[in-house]
Amino acid sequence: MANKAIKYRVYPTTEQEVMFAKTFGCCRKVWNLMLSDKIDGYKATGKFPTVTPAKYKNDYHYLREVDSLALANVQMNLQKAYKSFFDKKRKKKNGFPKFKSRKARNSYTTNNQKGTVAIIENKYIKLPKIGKVKAVIHRFPEEDWIIKSATVSKERDGSFYISILFEFDRIITKVTKSDNVIGLDYKSDGLYMDSDGNIGSNHKYYRENHKKLAKEQRKLSRKVGSKKNQTKSNNYLKQLKKVNKIHRHISNQRLDNLHKKSTEIANQYDIVCVESLNMKSMSNKGFGNGKATLDNGYGMFLSMLEYKLNDRGKYFIKIDKWYPSSQLCSCCGSRKKLTLQERIYKCNCGLTMDRDLNAAINIKNEGLRLLEVA
Ligand SMILES: [Zn+2]
Repeated sequence: MANKAIKYRVYPTTEQEVMFAKTFGCCRKVWNLMLSDKIDGYKATGKFPTVTPAKYKNDYHYLREVDSLALANVQMNLQKAYKSFFDKKRKKKNGFPKFKSRKARNSYTTNNQKGTVAIIENKYIKLPKIGKVKAVIHRFPEEDWIIKSATVSKERDGSFYISILFEFDRIITKVTKSDNVIGLDYKSDGLYMDSDGNIGSNHKYYRENHKKLAKEQRKLSRKVGSKKNQTKSNNYLKQLKKVNKIHRHISNQRLDNLHKKSTEIANQYDIVCVESLNMKSMSNKGFGNGKATLDNGYGMFLSMLEYKLNDRGKYFIKIDKWYPSSQLCSCCGSRKKLTLQERIYKCNCGLTMDRDLNAAINIKNEGLRLLEVA
């Protein structure tokens, strides 16, 4: 079993911030109470007594309001601190546990018990006693990763983070077989073309939903309230809700698909070569229209691919964005410029090939060259 922690930026509501502050305070209080009881007990009996947070809940009623697992973790941490202080084998000595002042780091840790801690709808983190906290999920766990615990912290600048600890079986592939390589060429009207000629595209329902969206948007434009200066009618607001729902659905679907596709590739290949993308220059070059370029999520796809390959101990190779992947002949290496309309690369050496496939093969070969140089 391996562990990995991912730290997410979160944006709690005012109520949630208050609850976080309460929990930080309660953890500090319980730490100090337990420490003081241990010291007093030692003075009286010559032994450090075992103390638990439950003992204080009658005297300090507010301790009942916060996540009890957070308090249980304080007890564990105090025990660990004691153990390491008395551990004679430890080379690096920790000092005797200290009392915590208000200036101490604001954080607490809670555990996942059958889904009490979870990432929801790709934009919230659920916590016990807190509920759904708005979060920027910049990195997604793999499907088989299990959430062990979550640590909430408040930084000095007032920002909040939740670090989630995942547990999973690590399968590291030793990269020895260099034939297990793939090159990916960006496709503005899909997702990519790989160097074996397979096309990766967005989910088929994606297009259907776009049609549905267009239809509902047309309906919206006919409702009272769609024009500037018009008061928004109930029917307009109802229709707007419908449109927004489809928007959300599409973006979730796309994300799921990117996730699935990148996992497949990371599982299947040891070395994946891609082109560094410059989205701005791509839309200038007229690779389809700019909207399709930005909309199909290729940038996100690449970042998913990168961390998934890294997690598996595999190679993700980015080749220079100025490398002329679409101009070179993948067979003889000669170079010529194709117009955007030319979909087939024809070379004097006899090569006749789909231009995207030709580019993907070039990307693969250049990636392998870079790997050998490195
Ligand atoms: Zn050629």
